Amino acid sequence: MKYALVTGAARGIGAATAREFARRGWGVAVNYATSRRQAEELVGELAGMGVPAMAVQADVADGNQVRAMVDNVLEKFCQLDILICNAGVSEAGLVSQIDEKSWRRLFAVNVDGVHHCCQAVLPNMIHRKAGSIVTVSSMWGQVGGSCEVAYSATKGAVIAYTKALAKELGPSNIRVNCVAPGVIDTDMNARLSPEELAALAEETPLGRAGTPEEVARVVAFLASEEASFLTGQVVAPNGGLVV
Ligand code: NAP
Repeated sequence: MKYALVTGAARGIGAATAREFARRGWGVAVNYATSRRQAEELVGELAGMGVPAMAVQADVADGNQVRAMVDNVLEKFCQLDILICNAGVSEAGLVSQIDEKSWRRLFAVNVDGVHHCCQAVLPNMIHRKAGSIVTVSSMWGQVGGSCEVAYSATKGAVIAYTKALAKELGPSNIRVNCVAPGVIDTDMNARLSPEELAALAEETPLGRAGTPEEVARVVAFLASEEASFLTGQVVAPNGGLVV
């Protein structure tokens, strides 16, 4: 039995990932920040699929909350084999109009959040000389998105963090990889108009937005033994939008 912690797992890509893991028979800790009801419903669903599951609240931007969450998960699961750093926030706007508070919050959640979670799970993984971490970046972290400068910068940082950590942890037999999704049909894109979504779909060689389940299968592959010789890699489920 493998045990995983998925951040931001109550909704969107995180929830699809938790379901994919349960299908593979892995126990899942479902982290949420504000979506308690959805997290608890999902835990009920995962338990119904026959795997150990628990909901754990923490704002990943807060290192103390993350450490308490990981302690709580380890108390119940006794080990953590897989960490998925999926929690993230986005904000669009001209660079000249980004205020300091929004800038700091994007970095606090998207970058500090990844670091807090990795740092908190590592003692257990290093002690066991086993583990797999998958971070969630974005195609904008690879190529930069106009009017998404702050978001792009955070997601670029996630890619650099992933590569550096993979080098550091390889000798401890811990793999660290990244997914960089394209346009995926979740609440995060709800602010886009139908016209904007249609334009993005048209720009995408496969002609549509991706589903959270399509990203989840890539995350699960990277987390699994099937990817046993992959580390430090960025895999991009993006329909060919960025190649
Ligand atoms: P979503 O549906 O908006 O879900 C965001 C998730 O992040 C929610 O579960 C939310 O938890 C969690 N979250 C936000 N702030 C948090 C915090 N401070 N602490 C803990 N959890 C927090 O978005 P999504 O599309 O599934 O995005 C998941 C990841 O994929 C993000 O990192 C995003 O940047 C990335 N991504 C998305 C797309 C896309 O097109 N959708 C493309 C590329 C990359 P609560 O609901 O509990 O607050």
